[in-house]
Amino acid sequence: MAGTMTYTSLEDIQKVHRTVTETFHSGLTQPLAFRRAQLVQLGKLIQENEARFLDAMQKDLGKAPLETGIADAGPVVYSIAKALEKLDEWNAPDRPADLPAWRAGWDTTVYKTPKGAVLIITPWNYPYVIGLGPLVGAIAAGCTAALKPSEALPTVCEMFAELFPRYLDTRAYAIVKGAVRETTCLLEHRWDHIFYTGSTRVGRIVAAAAARFVTPLTLELGGKCPVVVADDTDIAVAARRILYGKQANAGQVCVSPDYVLVPRARQDELLDAFAKVAAEFWPDGSLASPDLANVINAAARDRLTGLLAKTRGKVALGGEVEGDRRLAVTIVRDVPEDDILMEDEIFGPVLAVVPVDDVEHALRLIRAKPTPLAIYVYTESDALKQRFLETTESGTLVLNDTYQQLAVQEMPFGGKGDSGYGAWFGKDSFDIFVQRRSYVNVPIAADPHLAVRYPPYTQEKLDI
Ligand code: NAD
Repeated sequence: MAGTMTYTSLEDIQKVHRTVTETFHSGLTQPLAFRRAQLVQLGKLIQENEARFLDAMQKDLGKAPLETGIADAGPVVYSIAKALEKLDEWNAPDRPADLPAWRAGWDTTVYKTPKGAVLIITPWNYPYVIGLGPLVGAIAAGCTAALKPSEALPTVCEMFAELFPRYLDTRAYAIVKGAVRETTCLLEHRWDHIFYTGSTRVGRIVAAAAARFVTPLTLELGGKCPVVVADDTDIAVAARRILYGKQANAGQVCVSPDYVLVPRARQDELLDAFAKVAAEFWPDGSLASPDLANVINAAARDRLTGLLAKTRGKVALGGEVEGDRRLAVTIVRDVPEDDILMEDEIFGPVLAVVPVDDVEHALRLIRAKPTPLAIYVYTESDALKQRFLETTESGTLVLNDTYQQLAVQEMPFGGKGDSGYGAWFGKDSFDIFVQRRSYVNVPIAADPHLAVRYPPYTQEKLDI
């Protein structure tokens, strides 16, 4: 049973905006020592309250503690450690190389200036990684921030609201609890950057609101991520890795494998392999397993069972439902390419298997759809890997695994086209929240060397 929460009043939202804006202008967050201390505090918040967070996630999402620890809390602790290690290096000003000799005496420096008071709006599926992860970048960059977690995790939201003031400087960092009304109120204010993660539909609303103040924006949106199983791959390994990726967070991950394109002649073999893997992962069936998270709410469960009722494919595995929020990992075979399962992001424990003639057919199908967040290809062929790299578009291209791009924090993570723009993780999370501000100081003493630029533009000057 999920918990309950109260929402921040609209009056308090105004106060939050005023406080974090004024604090930024006061310069409190400028010294690196302040940022370092706040990063350490954020690390403590996570580590000293680990058991509480794991419980909250179990309560709100029925999620196994091991999965929460590995996929949600762990990566943020890692990113804090990295930010602490790199804080000086990331913030160090750059000086352009190769200046022409006549400008050698000028001071030309690019400073990493914090953008200001920023707003982070998050979905519910990974509250630490997606909420606190960008916050690490914002703190390291010297910004102040308001974080609006998703209302779909009430216990987690209340926990954030209680812990933030205990660990972080309340003048600089605040939690706003709420849903559409509260987010709309937040978006009516001027922010210096908005970092939004969530559905493409709401991403468009956020982008329109940001446009009013010409606010820079990062949009991490939904993805209907295809998997291609090529003829030359080891089907048993592919099945294990695809099903592992699909079951993570009960398929409620932006980079979940959404549909599998497999050569028609190998569909049966792939389905047999899925059945074997499922029996290993969940000997009593996935529905009975405490390792499989819940579907977030009854509405999401109804949406998914509605899709299963309407699909023209055949359920080959799973399909069982229990209570309001439990749906077994379900594999649907022989899904036609224009099926209802091929329309929107599935975002649940349902995998569509779509038989195709060959890889060219798979490529055509992928290219005809909105740009996904990730494309997964199982192949040993270097030529095919290159072909996908050169002829498809996506935020990430992953070969021979699913979901593992999230483990590589040293690379940018983001979307393209309908799956969003801007990228974060590691130093990219810091870069989002700074302006590379050019500073040019032309010494007064250099004036005689500049005489040529001043009118009158005589022939003598032109001849120089
Ligand atoms: P959502 O878009 O419904 O909600 C996200 C946030 O927006 C929440 O905080 C919510 O309160 C707020 N919101 C909702 N409707 C709003 C409105 N009309 N106006 C203003 N704010 C509004 O998304 P969700 O259901 O929480 O998350 C699932 C979606 O997020 C999926 O599409 C998934 O792919 C995507 N996602 C993307 C990434 C990524 O990194 N690209 C990561 C996780 C989730």
